[in-house]
Amino acid sequence: MSLLSLATVAKHFANGVEALRDLSFDLAAGEFVSLLGPSGCGKSTALRLIAGLLPPDGGMIGWPHGKPPIGFVFQDATLMPWTDALTNVRLPLDLQHVPRKAGNERAAVALARVGLSDFAHAYPRELSGGMKMRVSIARALVARPRLLLLDEPFAALDEPSRAALNDDLLRLWREDDLTVIFVTHSVSESAYLSSRVLVMTPRPGRIAADIALPSGPRTRLSAEFLEIERRIAAALPSADSAA
Ligand code: ADP
Ligand code: MG
Repeated sequence: MSLLSLATVAKHFANGVEALRDLSFDLAAGEFVSLLGPSGCGKSTALRLIAGLLPPDGGMIGWPHGKPPIGFVFQDATLMPWTDALTNVRLPLDLQHVPRKAGNERAAVALARVGLSDFAHAYPRELSGGMKMRVSIARALVARPRLLLLDEPFAALDEPSRAALNDDLLRLWREDDLTVIFVTHSVSESAYLSSRVLVMTPRPGRIAADIALPSGPRTRLSAEFLEIERRIAAALPSADSAA
């Protein structure tokens, strides 16, 4: 079942930068798709267009079965520093006028699902980078999205935190039967997480390769995993063609 369809989507900015040209792909419900490409190729722009935070200036973004509720996880955790983790997670429910008590209960469940039950009343400054990102994921999930968009969420984390969050994200994807679009510039991360990798060209971004992967779970450094990495890396446009 097609959830989302992008057809020849284009985006220019007022400063003359052409971020996207002819960006086309279809997404089925339940996929875990990585959008992989070099810095500046238009990945964040594509995600913001899909979320409806920016309008395209050419092409079509279609939702054949209606636009689902969307959760967005930004590259920085973007938490409110003046209040605790629970209140940060409750924010989308407050904006929907969900009563405080029900909101607190749902926020507590969301925090438990990312392993932060003991930190509900901690302030962002008391949390590590990985924990802040967990709060950010809980905040994106609390309103029960069907489509989760993540923009390089783990790029700033140390390797062990990143690996742990990769596994937690896969668990949440399966538990909630979510559809995920995951922006990354890491071949290894896209190989580990995805059921499909969309490789983008340098700017103006469009799809250079569409790689369907065998279903996981994967074992890092296994022969199968290294072969998947090799396939993805081989599809990346070379740095020379970007120049
Ligand atoms: P990526 O996420 O792949 O690194 P972006 O989508 O952020 O790339 O940006 C694509 C291009 O568009 C870049 O050259 C960037 O500088 C430019 N760009 C992004 N947002 C804006 C904006 N609001 N105004 C002008 N240029 C922008
Ligand atoms: Mg970006």
